Amino acid sequence: MLRLGGQVISTENARDFSSAIKGESLEDSVRIVAGYADAIVLRHPEEGAALRAAQVSPVPILNAGDGAGEHPTQSLLDLYTIQRELGRIDGLRVVMVGDLANGRTVHSLARLLANFEGVRLTLAAPPAVTMRADVLAQLGAGGVLVEETDALAEALAGADVIYQTRLQRERFADAAGEAAGAAAARIAERFRITEAVMASLGPDAIVLHPLPRVGEIDPAVDGDPRAAYFRQARNGVAVRMALLAELLR
Ligand code: ASP
Repeated sequence: MLRLGGQVISTENARDFSSAIKGESLEDSVRIVAGYADAIVLRHPEEGAALRAAQVSPVPILNAGDGAGEHPTQSLLDLYTIQRELGRIDGLRVVMVGDLANGRTVHSLARLLANFEGVRLTLAAPPAVTMRADVLAQLGAGGVLVEETDALAEALAGADVIYQTRLQRERFADAAGEAAGAAAARIAERFRITEAVMASLGPDAIVLHPLPRVGEIDPAVDGDPRAAYFRQARNGVAVRMALLAELLR
């Protein structure tokens, strides 16, 4: 926003440092903030919060992540990165790896990939955190060929894009969730991208990650030209500037 010549009013940790702590509803907070700003970028711990905000807001709402739900601006920059690195999206073989149940970026990216022709999607996840049923249903309806596996090596054969994700530990709140999280964490080691894994990939494959990474990509592979995650993060600036410029035109 600043690079576009605009200004930012922000409230970090709004749960503690805004009227939310006094009991104000999200809807009312949005109505108030919309009076101060031309657009609202909302990151919120609850799934569906951005939709609720959009239903009452007179200014555009950008969903910057709603709990385990969606992260659409991340997916736009992911698609931009794939297009820029590989020159196309149609017909690619994309492998999503890791916590596909709770990682919001893979939900949004999978839904967007369903709009392209001939994308083949392989979902490689520990059994406790496989892809959500609603996303699978949408992929099916969009005609995307989907395979699910819990074996990374098998998933990677012939892959064009490897989209690694982190185990979303903050989402395993209750006792059952903690048990599932611990089980997934034990298995996650098998899903790590290491130099040996990179050696098994084709010369033009790329590795993406929405970041932050916490061990699921060995830093030893950062110098490999196929490790595209820091270029991906940089692309986020241009894509989000474009989105804001378009919305505020
Ligand atoms: N930064 C991404 C997100 O906000 C990915 C992650 O946190 O693992 O969802």
